[in-house]
Amino acid sequence: MSKVKYYYDPETLSYRKIERKKRKTFKYILGFITASALFGFLTVFVTSHFVESPKEKALKRELTNMKLQYDLLNKKMDEASEVLASVEDRDNNIYRIYFEANPIPEEQRKAGFGGINRYKGLEGYDNSKLIIESSKKLDILQKQIVVQSKSLDEIAKLAEDKEKLLASIPAIQPVNNVDLTRIASGYGYRTDPFTKARKFHYGMDFTAPRGTPVYATGDGTVLRADSQSTGYGRHIRIDHGYGYVSLYAHLYKYNVKKNQKVERGDLIGFVGSTGRSEAPHLHYEIFKDGERINPTNFYYGSLTSEEYSILLEKSSLENQSLD
Ligand SMILES: [Zn+2]
Repeated sequence: MSKVKYYYDPETLSYRKIERKKRKTFKYILGFITASALFGFLTVFVTSHFVESPKEKALKRELTNMKLQYDLLNKKMDEASEVLASVEDRDNNIYRIYFEANPIPEEQRKAGFGGINRYKGLEGYDNSKLIIESSKKLDILQKQIVVQSKSLDEIAKLAEDKEKLLASIPAIQPVNNVDLTRIASGYGYRTDPFTKARKFHYGMDFTAPRGTPVYATGDGTVLRADSQSTGYGRHIRIDHGYGYVSLYAHLYKYNVKKNQKVERGDLIGFVGSTGRSEAPHLHYEIFKDGERINPTNFYYGSLTSEEYSILLEKSSLENQSLD
């Protein structure tokens, strides 16, 4: 209720009510509304621009935290990237070289993603740069891991093959050292025991008593076990794969049949003097891709370095072979 104002009228000697003009009242009200509106607007403006609401404060804190976490993730990705780089280095310079595979070029390992911009959806925000950089880093890291993993698969396969190859190629002496009387003759020019002519001797002769066990020198399949080759008498040929065949001649008896699978060290027959032979001995040959090669290069599996040098010395003497 608004106050009613009076004034003293000396003529009537009484108090009289002050009557305000209507127009003035209207102006007064309008002014009041305008002032209130202005004040309200200013209050809202100031609070929204300079004073944070609790909700805004919470959001801001969350954003700061997220940025911090992004930075930490980036650091972790950098660390992971470093570890991966050292694995890649070992892969290229040790494993792949050891297994005779070509190193994977750097460009292939670190290749980015060409074509369309994969990060378009992340553009246009205050924190776009941080998010795009992190996403890129992770994408490259992922790709590097895939390349590395494939490389290791390849190496595992190569290692398996190498193991098979190592088990297959002829690599031990076909007769035990203790059973040997002497190594009669090696690979090279020797005097023929029958014609006394100088002739190339394509194998190694191991002198041992008749019946001495003869062992397969590598994993493989018996190609032949017969006496159908002139000169060799009863002999065995083993196919080791990878182009290698070993031959054991002048046997007294067989212990295997054609097509039988054998492993390195299996007893395959016994020393004899069948075929073109002067005395009981094992004539041993190795073929690589159809060519006869020097067997002395293949005894690394069973001999000590001393035994090997004695063998080399003895087998290189240009004596008479037993054929
Ligand atoms: Zn011989």
